[in-house]
Formats: sequence, C-alpha cells, structure tokens
Amino acid sequence: MNTLVCANWKMNQTVQTMEQWCTDYSHAQSTHRSDVEVVVCAPFVLLPALVARAGGMHVRIAAQNVSERAHGAFTGEVSAEMLQSIGVNTAIVGHSERRTLFGETDDDVAAKVVRLLALGMTPICCVGETLDAYRAGKTVDVITQQMHAVIKKMNDAALTDAHTVARLVIAYEPVWAIGTGLRASAQEAQEAIFVIERMIAEAFGDASRVRKLYGGSVDAQTFGAYLDQPSIQGALVGGASLDSGHFASLVRIAQEKHGARI
Ligand code: PEP
Repeated sequence: MNTLVCANWKMNQTVQTMEQWCTDYSHAQSTHRSDVEVVVCAPFVLLPALVARAGGMHVRIAAQNVSERAHGAFTGEVSAEMLQSIGVNTAIVGHSERRTLFGETDDDVAAKVVRLLALGMTPICCVGETLDAYRAGKTVDVITQQMHAVIKKMNDAALTDAHTVARLVIAYEPVWAIGTGLRASAQEAQEAIFVIERMIAEAFGDASRVRKLYGGSVDAQTFGAYLDQPSIQGALVGGASLDSGHFASLVRIAQEKHGARI
C-alpha cells in the first residue's frame, strides 16, 4: 500500500506565496517514487492554479472541506461536483477545526464521506479526541463513535464494495495535538489507529487497503516513528507543510521508510 504524505495548509497562502511554495518544493524534491503519494490540501480559491502545477510537482491536489449536498441554495458552500469539474478528486472532511469551530457533527462528516465516495472521490476523514476526552481515557470511545457514524452511512448508502472502501482514508488526529507542538506518542497513535482498522475490517471484511494516517504536530524529527507503526501509512501535516523545504524532507523520510519496508 502506498504511503501518503498530506499537507494541510488550512487558511494560509495566497496565489503569490503558493507559487513560491511550488517553485521551492519542486527544487527541494529531487526524487519521485510512485509508492509515496503526496497530497496538498489547499484553500478552495487556490485549487485551480495548484491543479495546473500539480503534475510538475508529482502531487495530488485536494480540498480542505466539501458540502454534503449536491447543489442548490447553500450560499458559500462548494460541492463535490464543483471540485471534480476542476480536476480535484480528494477532500479532507471532518477536520477537528470544522467540528469544533464550525459545529460539524459526526453525522455531517459521515454524509460528506458518503457524498465523495458515491462520486468516485477520495475522502480524508479526520477523527480524534479532545484533550478532556484524552485525559479521561475516552480516546477509544470518541473515535469509535466517529467511525461508527461513517460506517453506518456507508452501509446505508451501500458503499461497501472493496473498491469503494479502498478509497477511504482515515486520519487519526487527536485534537489536543493539532497545532500545539504536543503529539500522541507513536505507540498511542498505533493503538488508536488499530481500533479504527479493526472497526473497518469488521464492517467491510478488510481494512488492509484503507490508508490510516496520523496527524498532530508531525515534523521531520517525529514522522519516522509513526511510519514505523504497523497500522500507520502516512501523515496529515499542518504547520510543518507551510515550509516547502520541511515538507519535502517529510516526503523524503516517507520514501526512505517505504523503500526499507518493501
Ligand atoms: C492538521 O491541520 O491537520 C494538523 C495536523 O496540523 P499540525 O500538523 O499543525 O498539528
């Protein structure tokens, strides 16, 4: 299974800084390996220009959010079909900032996952517990509930064939580790992701083709330890992805680790 290194720029970059990032990343990234997939999740307004540059950088371009609805009177929303129409087939859904700051529920997030899967697209679905839940030892309860909503909606929509399930990407992102410099240990991340893996296997018969990522203050010093875990196939990277050189070094680490695994 390919390793996945995803940049999440959040609400950062302009057309000008994005152009510079692409130029610098292209220079920093000397080798391309097809078994390490690089994804840049960017603000909507930057997507068309990024799509035009994606091939030269060997990266896939993704959105950071998408509407669960097809079309209609939903001012300010962007549909999955709109993304497809500009060549974007991947989107983050349920990032903790969407859940906590914009009130997205487990059900909303699950509906977005289903919308993308139904159109042949790839959701990068984020799950993870808050600091209070972590301290209360409720990590497994929280991610079980979040994953249950996704699995239920996929079942309801009959999106359960092996091909469709394989498109699903799950990012385990403890909320307390995002943008804080704190992180779950590699062992904690493995344990949480193992729960996710088991739920997917129980629901759909096989979890081996579903990529599971860790996210939360990943940097070049810490990334390798996550990739050494048996259930982790990559990372969702916020802050460290804004520096093209740092992000390129994460891609290199994934390439070295992946090369060593096979
Ligand atoms: C994220 O935005 O998904 C994220 C993990 O951010 P950071 O790497 O900055 O913690």
